[in-house]
Amino acid sequence: THFGFKTVAKTEKQQMVAGVFHSVAEKYDLMNDLLSFGIHRIWKRFTIDCSGVRKGQKVLDLAGGTGDFTAKLSRIVGRTGKVILADINSSMLEVGREKLRNLGVVGNVDYVQANAESLPFSDNTFDCVIISFGLRNVTDKDKALKSIFRVLKPGGRLLVLEFSKPIFDPLSKIYNFYSFNILPKVGEIIVNDADSYRYLAESIRMHPNQSILKEMMEEAGFEQVNYYNLTAGIVALHRGYKF
Ligand code: SAM
Repeated sequence: THFGFKTVAKTEKQQMVAGVFHSVAEKYDLMNDLLSFGIHRIWKRFTIDCSGVRKGQKVLDLAGGTGDFTAKLSRIVGRTGKVILADINSSMLEVGREKLRNLGVVGNVDYVQANAESLPFSDNTFDCVIISFGLRNVTDKDKALKSIFRVLKPGGRLLVLEFSKPIFDPLSKIYNFYSFNILPKVGEIIVNDADSYRYLAESIRMHPNQSILKEMMEEAGFEQVNYYNLTAGIVALHRGYKF
């Protein structure tokens, strides 16, 4: 049946994503710095600045992986606040937990293995949810956006940092060449895994562009949705509110 087919396809994507992140977990941070020339740090800083997160708040770092956001958020929310690092992948969570402990990020952080499509939290729990380079990997994005909407408090906001569509053509061409030719080679050299970085390039190509993602967020219930193009649209930051 059609339904049966969809179920099979879904399992395949989930399995592939699991394989990719089990494979790259140990070298994930190094690869981010190499492949983005360190620029991912600027994108992440900008996201924090747009998040409006304050002392005492409860924040979800969803698909948080090795915890770059959790480290920053933990400092901002302080002892009276809480950060939850949630990720579907046990290897990424383990590398993240180890890194954050070594950085002294303890006390106000919890780790939860969870699928963004069905979050194991009560309604109206979080002041802010950040999903950074994560939504692209989720099989049912609409379901994930609804699930995020549910766990946000009224007045809470979602920030989606994700690869997007470069805003001018010449850049698109260079970028495509970079993604499909350079990325897998660097993946081969550093983690001995070109396939994971071929998946990365393909998943970026397939991901909805700026305006479609905005519509998807509105469809899930978010209001005042807007986005910022970063590095000429190679990445976009979308923000929406639950009222
Ligand atoms: N947020 C981190 C960052 O910005 O560096 C990590 C991003 S990493 C590219 C993507 C993460 O999404 C991986 O750790 C992966 O395990 C996680 N992920 C993939 N599918 C997921 C899902 N359905 N639910 C939760 N996490 C998921």
